[in-house]
Amino acid sequence: MKMLFDAVYYEPAALRFELGQMLRAKYAALPWIEIENHNYIPELAAAGNHDFPKLKRHLIIGLRKTHKYVPNHKVSDWLVPYTSSGCRAMCLYCYLVCNYNKCSYLRLFVNREQMLNRLLKRAAAAPAPQTFEIGSNSDLLLENTITNNLIYTIVRFAQEGRGQLTFPTKFDRVTPLLGLDHKGKTIFRMSVNPEEIIDRIEWGTSPLRARIHALNAMAEAGYPVGLLLAPVILLPEWKRLYGRLIEQLSDELSQKVKQNGFIEIILMTYSFVQNAINTDAFPNAVKLFDQETMTGRGRGKYCYRNEARLEAGSFLRQRLSERLGSMPILYIS
Ligand code: SF4
Repeated sequence: MKMLFDAVYYEPAALRFELGQMLRAKYAALPWIEIENHNYIPELAAAGNHDFPKLKRHLIIGLRKTHKYVPNHKVSDWLVPYTSSGCRAMCLYCYLVCNYNKCSYLRLFVNREQMLNRLLKRAAAAPAPQTFEIGSNSDLLLENTITNNLIYTIVRFAQEGRGQLTFPTKFDRVTPLLGLDHKGKTIFRMSVNPEEIIDRIEWGTSPLRARIHALNAMAEAGYPVGLLLAPVILLPEWKRLYGRLIEQLSDELSQKVKQNGFIEIILMTYSFVQNAINTDAFPNAVKLFDQETMTGRGRGKYCYRNEARLEAGSFLRQRLSERLGSMPILYIS
């Protein structure tokens, strides 16, 4: 995917940082529009839902000012706000739309040194080694193609960090990470879905086969790895789609991934806001909200009803144990 932007909105303070200057040169051909605060850009906040794809073409550059770590109890111990939020891709269910609404465009924060210093300090002070999820606000592998922030982070954390970092991705751009001296301190997690779902719903992300190759390459390069079946979307033909996905994974994942990797399974949640944006911006797209199988889950969110969740969970466990039995399933949520 070539990253195309049509304009850069920037906080002037960002240009005092080396990364800000690098971005200034890289995108010199685009219009640069000064903003006060990346959190609120009045003209973009006032746009209509149908403008969503247009907004996604903007790149926002600023400084991250809030650094609150949120406790987590899955692969990581903490969710860490890191070098970007939002994303250039347009998955129809993207969880970031719940947080940022229409403004889920890519924002890059140039004060990476400050953020990593903070993380290293926190890691050193913890009573036991901790795992930090740095990719819960964006897709860092995609971001890395613009900023090289992952290269900076993985290498420096390997040298100075205690515990581990982790991030998930839906992209295949791993080549710059393969030769890094990571010391096994970064857990790489590849998110997968059936090819039909990637084509129809995960717009702008990497194809399934390319993601599988990238995961194999990262395992070969010595990174600890995991596979995320996420989000599982219960379209009418879901059993055929996910049955076939598991067969393909079993055929194409390397022995290294099968022997050392783990699996996470997350069923899709959806929201009123996403439904409103998708209905206005993409009237012909697959409808993800299904009244039959979904129910409310507080604050305008929807999730699959219990019966549907149980059926999906037991189907996936069964097929995974048949074809990828050596990979532990950490949780289904
Ligand atoms: S790749 Fe991830 S962050 Fe980007 S749009 Fe898709 S779900 Fe959202």
